[in-house]
Amino acid sequence: MDSGAVEKDLVEVLFTEKQILDRLGELAQEIERDYDGKDLVIVGVLRGAVMVMADLARALGRHVEMDWMAVSSYGSGTKSSGVVRILKDLDADISGRHVVIVDEIIDTGLTLSWLTSNLSSRGPASVEICTLLRKPEALQMPVEVKYVGWDIPNEFVVGYGLDYRERYRNLRDIGTLAPHVYS
Ligand code: 5GP
Ligand code: MG
Ligand code: MG
Repeated sequence: MDSGAVEKDLVEVLFTEKQILDRLGELAQEIERDYDGKDLVIVGVLRGAVMVMADLARALGRHVEMDWMAVSSYGSGTKSSGVVRILKDLDADISGRHVVIVDEIIDTGLTLSWLTSNLSSRGPASVEICTLLRKPEALQMPVEVKYVGWDIPNEFVVGYGLDYRERYRNLRDIGTLAPHVYS
């Protein structure tokens, strides 16, 4: 499908829809191996992780429960502050269960570091992280990530769930925005 007006604002495509789906397929295989025979809940972090959750879950050839959390980090614009507030909590009780948190990008790591310790305090069997993208240069908190799609340079990307001012989440590819968008 042609997304026309949305796609023309991208100055560079970093990952195409096809590349993303292929990589998620590989991560799904790793997850299948690691959790073979085990009960598994995947937790998507709203709203950015919607696309990753949908495609990762369907790439998993096994039963999996999908749950969601919405958190907001105080602070504005494109930077998070590390102070996190729960806007929507899990529906599931995760005590005694294996959990994989699914996110689209780790930037400073503040959000996922907070979320990991929050979920770990609920007595799960295990908590791991799966992220499509990670910016190693931006990391401010040590976050152990078991499944990473790609490490990328420290630049702002949009598409495939990633927004700029709530736009561009519906792009199929991931890329960088043309300078005219910011001005
Ligand atoms: P962290 O707590 O790791 O700094 O924040 C991660 C969140 O910041 C992501 O879930 C995402 O919402 C936002 N974010 C970080 N880097 C980018 C980026 O390059 N593009 C977009 N669109 N959002 C980003
Ligand atoms: Mg996110
Ligand atoms: Mg955002």
